Amino acid sequence: MKMKRIFATGISQESNSFNPLKSTYDDFVIYRGQEFRDTPGLKVLIDAGFDVVESIWPRAVPGGTLNFEDFKRFADEMLTPLEDDRKGFDAVFLPMHGALDVEHIGSGEAYIIARIREIVGQDIPIAAALDMHANIMYGAADAVNIIYGYRTAPHIDVAETHIRAAELLVRALNEGVTPRTKLLRIPYMMPGENMMTSSGIGKEIIEKLPLIEKHENIWCASYFVGMAWIDCYQNGAAVVVSGVGDMSGGIEEASKLKQFVLDNRSRFQYQGNAMEPEEIIDFVKKHSHDRPVIISDSADNKTAGAAGDNAFMLDMFLRSGVENAVFASIIDPEAIERVKSQKIGDVIDIEIGGAFDQGSKKVAMKGAVIKNITLGLSNENSKNLFEDKPRSCVLNYKGIDVLIFDKRKPVFDESTLAEHGLSLSDYNILVVKQGYLSPELLEAAKHSAMALTPGNCNQKIERLTYKKIRHPMYPFDEA
Ligand SMILES: [Zn+2]
Repeated sequence: MKMKRIFATGISQESNSFNPLKSTYDDFVIYRGQEFRDTPGLKVLIDAGFDVVESIWPRAVPGGTLNFEDFKRFADEMLTPLEDDRKGFDAVFLPMHGALDVEHIGSGEAYIIARIREIVGQDIPIAAALDMHANIMYGAADAVNIIYGYRTAPHIDVAETHIRAAELLVRALNEGVTPRTKLLRIPYMMPGENMMTSSGIGKEIIEKLPLIEKHENIWCASYFVGMAWIDCYQNGAAVVVSGVGDMSGGIEEASKLKQFVLDNRSRFQYQGNAMEPEEIIDFVKKHSHDRPVIISDSADNKTAGAAGDNAFMLDMFLRSGVENAVFASIIDPEAIERVKSQKIGDVIDIEIGGAFDQGSKKVAMKGAVIKNITLGLSNENSKNLFEDKPRSCVLNYKGIDVLIFDKRKPVFDESTLAEHGLSLSDYNILVVKQGYLSPELLEAAKHSAMALTPGNCNQKIERLTYKKIRHPMYPFDEA
């Protein structure tokens, strides 16, 4: 018997359409060949005895909307093997994020899925593994037979999710059935920070998914929080169920979950301290004897796609006279360009911030001292999204050290500080650009708080201007 063939491709980036800096082709790392075949989902398919034909899987850390020409280049390359052998496949496997925003066309995933369906027809199963922060479209749900999403935030089940989606695709092929997907949209948008899955309402929601899966003919159920910082029609939360035949029992259970979410809206809260920026200064003054105090500048969160160039909090700290703090980091390629020709110990007059976003605050530092310069670390060929090291410098100004990068890279832990000549133990206060703190920094902090700053990832989404979302939508149309 002829070996069944599965086509695999995908594209993963979480977009932030409020970041004016568009993402481009070069922001992506492209997995191909053996590297893609070694990922957990593809391994399941290969180990199950299928002939897996993979194209590319471009991945990037969160960023601004992807420019159309570059997306089109990815899409064409992704679909080449399928175009070359239009009827040669028995199934399609797609590891995706689900919140890729593309200039002019909106959802990148919806475009890819629609093109795949156009090529392969209606009869072969397509399975997608998605991030919990995906915004799901009706079109994509209708066209994909199996949709399965992460069940943890912060995400620690990425591999398990890809494995389960692949296993369900194997099941569909082995049983010779074509599952279908039902989407129940929830008119509710919120920042991901309002739903952690280790406790509270987030945990309760995730615990209800197996109850849906207990119903007859249901293969899997997923809950999607959505990605709030994209101005798009498909934004919002959703319950998604995949299965075969009569799925009515599971769909009814899923409707109960939808209602549970709407009825419990007031319970979606931040898990730790969250406060307006003005309150942060008092907070750090109160706790700085019991260090380290770690503050996240939440609206400039690079891990949710913000530009990372806002010196708003730095300006606030400087004006308040707080000292012995380190800011890690602010993205400013021009500043790195200027510092490059100087040496450690030199004193310069420099302006930091607002490199990309007109709305980001700039801060003038007259007489800043150069403490550290790390050049030539940028690795253009780096295959790991998080291994790439930007060029950096550290400037000291009025008792505050500022770590500056030439390109967007998140700071997750103390090792990133160490790579740039800094040690957390030297400071009372660390300010990072995250939403909820990474587990490593949360562990390291004696006290921590999220500052509800203005910017691309404003936690108070009501303060941003959306033009494309559906209405009614909570919290915008709260009665
Ligand atoms: Zn996510």
